[in-house]
Amino acid sequence: SPAPAAAPPSTPTHCPYCALQCGMNLRAAAGGDVVEVVERTDFPVNRGALCGKGRTAPAVLSSRVRLTEPLVRRPATGRLEPATWEEALVKIAEGLGRTQRGYGPDAVGVFGGGGLTNEKAYALGKFARVVLATSQIDYNGRFCMSSAAAAHQKAFGLDRGLPFPLEDIPRTGCVILVGSNLAETMPPALRYLTELKENGGTLIVVDPRRTRTAEQADLHLAPRPGTDLALALGLLHIVVSEGRTDESFVQDRTAGWDEARAAAMAHWPELVERITGVPVPQLRDAVRMFCDAPAGMVLTARGPEQQSKGTDTVGAWINLCLATGRAGRPLSGYGCLTGQGNGQGGREHGQKADQLPGYRKLTDPAAREHVAGVWGVDPDSLPGPGRSAYELLDALGGDIKSLLLMGSNPVVSAPRAAHIEERLRSLDFLAVADVVLSETAALADVVLPVTQWAEETGTTTNLEGRVLLRRKAVDPPPGVRTDLEVLHSLAALLGHEKGFPVDPEEVFAELRRASAGGPADYSGISYRRIAEEDGVFWPCPEGAPASSTAPTDSTAHAVPAAHAAPGDDHPGTPRLFLDRFATEDGRARFVPVTHRPAAEEPDAEYPVLLTTGRVVAQYQSGAQTRRVDELNAAAPGPFVELHPRLAQRLGVSEGDRLSVVSRRGRAVAPARITDSIRSDTVFMPFHWPGEGRANTLTNPALDPTSRMPEFKVCAVRIERAQD
Ligand code: SF4
Repeated sequence: SPAPAAAPPSTPTHCPYCALQCGMNLRAAAGGDVVEVVERTDFPVNRGALCGKGRTAPAVLSSRVRLTEPLVRRPATGRLEPATWEEALVKIAEGLGRTQRGYGPDAVGVFGGGGLTNEKAYALGKFARVVLATSQIDYNGRFCMSSAAAAHQKAFGLDRGLPFPLEDIPRTGCVILVGSNLAETMPPALRYLTELKENGGTLIVVDPRRTRTAEQADLHLAPRPGTDLALALGLLHIVVSEGRTDESFVQDRTAGWDEARAAAMAHWPELVERITGVPVPQLRDAVRMFCDAPAGMVLTARGPEQQSKGTDTVGAWINLCLATGRAGRPLSGYGCLTGQGNGQGGREHGQKADQLPGYRKLTDPAAREHVAGVWGVDPDSLPGPGRSAYELLDALGGDIKSLLLMGSNPVVSAPRAAHIEERLRSLDFLAVADVVLSETAALADVVLPVTQWAEETGTTTNLEGRVLLRRKAVDPPPGVRTDLEVLHSLAALLGHEKGFPVDPEEVFAELRRASAGGPADYSGISYRRIAEEDGVFWPCPEGAPASSTAPTDSTAHAVPAAHAAPGDDHPGTPRLFLDRFATEDGRARFVPVTHRPAAEEPDAEYPVLLTTGRVVAQYQSGAQTRRVDELNAAAPGPFVELHPRLAQRLGVSEGDRLSVVSRRGRAVAPARITDSIRSDTVFMPFHWPGEGRANTLTNPALDPTSRMPEFKVCAVRIERAQD
């Protein structure tokens, strides 16, 4: 009998969505018209497991609503209509140029995304600063993990989401998971917590809702939204008063303990119970579980971070780790579970308002000189820091007249979204590059159809700081171009013929040089190494001797590149801070923090708290996942989750259409009654536009350090919706 036909080859790559960056194989089938996901068990982060979002991601490649030709808004009709690439690109160059000639360089803004590859984020930052010479660039990652990043920098001198690999989690003793519903946001990561418990470890979950993740916990603390900071202070108070401080660690490896301890001692447990609603015995149980374990971790996500005091809140949890000696030691530490696919790399290479590539500060003269040297420009020509994401969006139509936007959908994802939508409409000129006509692209003057994840090659950096290679698995449809090609063409039209290559590996080679010697040093990482090594953890300086940094015994600054032996491969740095922290003196910093209320507390007019979040079958603004039938069937629209006691008080039944009203607007969605939420709080997922848009309601009050808006708590009233 004839030998069975060999299976068509598949390409190892990574999911386009969240920061776990699960590995998968992609295989073209049906003559190349269909792309299949094939299990990829060799990638250690997910070992073959995928959530529904990742499994169905190829559906967006062939979606009938996908953009395959540029669109230009025609004055005669006021509508977006098909155009050639040449016309669309010239219109963008003219639109941006006209604004800058009339109002100066900073009248053009650039807005990027945490889903862009490292190469695109790097090229976009360079385009803004070199071609447009504008300071006004930021990205939607500001809305993701910026508070954790700021707290990391303050305490440890370096920000990498997780300073240890995920594989360490099952081997620690106790995990406190604060404001993360990873069972829904990144389901394959749940196995790390399951294995922790199988190994005899304990899990404490802090969340106002009894989520699917909280159901796995040994102890669930359900604080009032906006009080996580007080909760952490209360736990630290108990640590001190019960003599559970690790005095020798505090003495040898930290600074600033006296002030932080004094701040914590002002938050005695009974006061913390009154602020948070968490009973004192539960606070004491949490301290006992955390301190009795041989090692421990605190992991935060958007819950504590998306607050107007997010940096201080994360700082309070880091203080708890430092006081108990659970940082900078094997199997212990504080980490942030970054959300977006390249939220980590996206903030390291220059699309953030205050950063240059390599996670360098834009205000640092040495950093400016180094990066300007790589770019071949005068350091003095580089603009200074610009506005943060919300402030930039809020300035649209004011002193920012035109905007170039890539990989973001702020009409759905920004706080006070109706106001931001109105700001976008008021622009003189808006250009958007996207794969579908998102709600933001629909407002544009020019829309460029760009390639998707599986149609192009590039690197991302996952939540562990592991730099990964997304490989091209299929050809894009005719009519679309890559974001790198878009930037190359626009740069040329604006007078920069060179400096914007379209080959991602060439861009990465330049990124490596630009990052060399910086905190996020990628200079020793190559596409070849990533492919051979399941990814490479930064920092990874080029030419550094492998022997000087064993992966389990390395720090951010262990191997100065200047001392490296050319040709030797640095192994990368899976674990940070084990010998010293990345501060000048090597000590971690306690940050004295005190509780303060949310920017908006309930009152007679708006008596209920609103918190927002995600569901398992949708991703962020839903621009891609709302185009997948299977995901829409699982999560067809928004809802308002409320407790039976609140429902009874309001006379609301399951499925009733509710109007949720805040000082910023009104959103309408059906009631979903559940006792898994506090009775003083309602929850809405934020993935949808239109009348159910949760971000119509959210408060843009900003954290003073990170400029993170307060997505996680605001005051609302609930009414029955008028049909
Ligand atoms: Fe993995 Fe996240 Fe993709 Fe789901 S969305 S498959 S958890 S990377």
